[in-house]
Amino acid sequence: MTVQAADKTASLTEQDVARIREDFPILSVTTSSGHPLNYLDNSATSQKPRHVIDATSEYYSGKNANVHRGVHHLSELATKAYEDARLKAQHHINAPLGCEVIFTKGTTEAINLVSHSYVRAKLKAGDEILVSAMEHHANIVPWQLACEVTGATIKVAPIDDNGDIIVEEFEALLSEKTKFVGLNFVSNALGTINPVKELIAMAHKHGAVVLLDAAQAMPHCRIDVLDLDCDFLACSAHKMYGPTGTGFLYGKAGILKDMPPFLGGGDMIERVSFEKSTYNSLPYRFEAGTPNIAGVVGFGAAFDYVDSIGLDRIAAYEDELLEYGTGLLNEIPGVRIIGNARKKISVISFVMDAAHPHDIGQILNDQGIAVRAGHHCAQPLMDRFGVPATARASFTFYNTKSELDALADGIRKVNEVFA
Ligand code: PMP
Repeated sequence: MTVQAADKTASLTEQDVARIREDFPILSVTTSSGHPLNYLDNSATSQKPRHVIDATSEYYSGKNANVHRGVHHLSELATKAYEDARLKAQHHINAPLGCEVIFTKGTTEAINLVSHSYVRAKLKAGDEILVSAMEHHANIVPWQLACEVTGATIKVAPIDDNGDIIVEEFEALLSEKTKFVGLNFVSNALGTINPVKELIAMAHKHGAVVLLDAAQAMPHCRIDVLDLDCDFLACSAHKMYGPTGTGFLYGKAGILKDMPPFLGGGDMIERVSFEKSTYNSLPYRFEAGTPNIAGVVGFGAAFDYVDSIGLDRIAAYEDELLEYGTGLLNEIPGVRIIGNARKKISVISFVMDAAHPHDIGQILNDQGIAVRAGHHCAQPLMDRFGVPATARASFTFYNTKSELDALADGIRKVNEVFA
């Protein structure tokens, strides 16, 4: 790791960012257009530093064995590496207990776990689940599936034209019928950072249990589950410079301990007979089968990497980039930014009078610029803004102002091409 910050609160300097970029081998590739890569699709998935890549490959070359099952040397190494990652995750979100961190394939599986093992078991006809209008499909469809079998219904808290949740309307939708709230911490499509602590407190006043979808919050915001008092929190490693196919669910032990298993199989049991099985303790009860051990080890390395730079410095630098990029795009005729919330992560979603988002994405790609064009797995949100799709530039601490200049040039080119 190249950056060892002395001051953990100041923003990153140009020199810091230049050094950080050396940690990410992929950032030096040349794209098929012949241009250097300008990667602005970090909300879809972030790139991986050498530290994470090395941790994953060193796991395979020096520690590979199944976890929790063997007494031999390699199994002990693998189990230790896997459990160390759990402790890092616990520490990162300030969870009181390691057993409150359940490794999953990612945010989607974590939310489905809660849908199956909590919501389906607890909710009945007439109960309500409250979500916001800016949810990712992963925080909508699992609740719909649960509603189909329980008879519960979904209520949707509206957002305003800037992409801020309307707090009074959120509160007004809470009642004794609201048993569960699924809330995006940070919107992947708009960048909005929701006032989740305040919303959780409101939900709790009505006795509702709250899950935070922290897929986008993890790489940008300091998360303290004790302070937030969320009941569940779901996230994915690949959004935070870790491997794909891994993530975790945090749940309060007091709630998790009474939940039935989600998937059945090896490792999640205490004793199996054909008549009846009994289940393992937390967190193993929810980790059936051989997990993505290398992925989890890489996730652990991603926490170390982020800590070595400092999340506060990352956030301060990303705020600078956001302000700079927003200024640039606001000056280009025919560009409309979708999502101007009071508090945002470094995401700019936009549409253009001249071209469809897919055409924007294509023309930018011709210049080596990677943005996402589409509905961002948030179709109800696109409906709310009356657009079929947006182009989305999402940047992070290894991006630079000159990459944002190149983005603005690329967008001006779209105007020229479609003039
Ligand atoms: N929620 C949000 C806000 C997301 O941005 C994403 C990923 N785009 C997900 C959930 C789903 O994450 P994953 O695909 O890693 O399970």
